[in-house]
Amino acid sequence: MSGQFIEETLKTPVAYECDVLVAGGGTAGVTAALAAARNGAKTILIDRYGFLGGSMINGAGPLHSFFNLYKAFPGVEKVQVVKGIPQEIIDRMVAAGGSPGHLEQDKGGSYDSVITIIDWEIFKGVIFDMMEEAGVHVLLHVMAVETVREGNTVKGVIIEGKSGREAILAKTVIDATGDGDVAAKAGANFIKRHGAQKVGMPFGMTNVDMPKLVAYLEENDMVNQIVHSDKGSKIDDIIRLGFELRKIPLFKEYMDKTGIWGPLGVSLHENNYNYINGTSIRDIDATDTETLSKAELTLRKQVMTLSEMLKKHIPGFEHAYLSWTPTCIGIRYTRVIECEHDMSLDEIINAARFNDEVMLYGFHDMAPKLMIKNGAYYGIPYRAFIPKGIENLLVAGRLITSTYEAHMSTRNTVSCLAQGQAVGTAAALAAATGVSARKIDTARLRDVLREQKVFLG
Ligand SMILES: Cc1cc2nc3c(=O)[nH]c(=O)nc-3n(C[C@H](O)[C@H](O)[C@H](O)COP(=O)(O)OP(=O)(O)OC[C@H]3O[C@@H](n4cnc5c(N)ncnc54)[C@H](O)[C@@H]3O)c2cc1C
Repeated sequence: MSGQFIEETLKTPVAYECDVLVAGGGTAGVTAALAAARNGAKTILIDRYGFLGGSMINGAGPLHSFFNLYKAFPGVEKVQVVKGIPQEIIDRMVAAGGSPGHLEQDKGGSYDSVITIIDWEIFKGVIFDMMEEAGVHVLLHVMAVETVREGNTVKGVIIEGKSGREAILAKTVIDATGDGDVAAKAGANFIKRHGAQKVGMPFGMTNVDMPKLVAYLEENDMVNQIVHSDKGSKIDDIIRLGFELRKIPLFKEYMDKTGIWGPLGVSLHENNYNYINGTSIRDIDATDTETLSKAELTLRKQVMTLSEMLKKHIPGFEHAYLSWTPTCIGIRYTRVIECEHDMSLDEIINAARFNDEVMLYGFHDMAPKLMIKNGAYYGIPYRAFIPKGIENLLVAGRLITSTYEAHMSTRNTVSCLAQGQAVGTAAALAAATGVSARKIDTARLRDVLREQKVFLG
């Protein structure tokens, strides 16, 4: 910082007015917008990129998880815990040839009984179709940079894009930016939790001899997760593959030096290991421009080095090449917005249920170390999405849950998808009944969610 300041006077045109404005068209944002529009709200969805899906298609591989962890608890019933719009997206993806649907883990079932993988490129088209059909007004390449407020009441959001600086007025704003950019500008209390997590940059490699790779890994007892299924190939049926590179001293040395783990990956196309997750740096404040930029450089170096090492030293990768990196690094944890309820680890692992719960979830990303007892599932109450002290604002996604161990459940893609449907529906009800989102009738919200195929037990 130079210590100098530029004082600006701004007069911003009101370019749009709507019932529900969803800021951030990522994992939670897409279902929030679809739910709001389908429930009759005039809905605008904004994102800083030229596509929708956020971290779900830009960092996450398998979607964790539509089901409970029944495989870790013999005798426990298999239950599909998340349905509704998230399931509809999977149905559309399967129909478009962009997903094999829900698959059972062949090995590693005590981590995730069922996994669901989607093809990111097909998702980009399918989700635009769904937005169009629902009548969501999508604005891309715009950043939410400020809020319009009267006291502690949010009245809209200021965006900046190629058209310049514009205001969008809304009855309810949903912050689904992951980082809580809107809630922070609205004056909501938050804490920063980046110190508890890692950022990463998964990458993809093409022309990998998958059968040869798996044979080598199995011979050396390195496979920790595997899923086989038909992917339209006569020679390659590997859909999910995780292995312990650390067992090879050369890799262990590099991994210890950098913090790289795994890798854990997915493979949707013949001899294409689309997604290799493991590159890693700790303690990155992704809300700081300098830090974020340096993290991109560091992680890209890790990708270049690791992909070269795989080619040089691991049978099956000899003729492979680096063919995919995400639009930006994957961020797991930044701001956590202080809400009327904060999910605790105790509530999660003890499968707590609430009178005002608006979704259920049964996966924990630290399984088998931490699991929801007896393969059950827990509820998230509507209060968990209402920022304390701020009106007309809801939040959803990885910006809720303030402790690392609890966040390792709520932050996962399928939870965020379910959260989005809950808050989008709530915001539409608020618009329809003319009350603040905080004051809607939660019994009515739960009825509407049930009618729209959300599983509430
Ligand atoms: C490397 C990595 C691997 C992961 N692997 C898995 C996995 O295998 N399975 C799993 O279930 N989960 C995984 N996760 C976790 C999961 O992907 C995320 O927690 C989840 O997708 C977050 O959803 P979200 O809606 O909160 O945020 P996002 O999906 O990131 O959406 C936020 C959206 O807001 C937009 N945005 C941000 N700021 C602004 C702004 N100011 N103005 C306009 N737009 C804005 C972004 O462009 C983005 O589209 C992984 C995460 C990472 C980082």
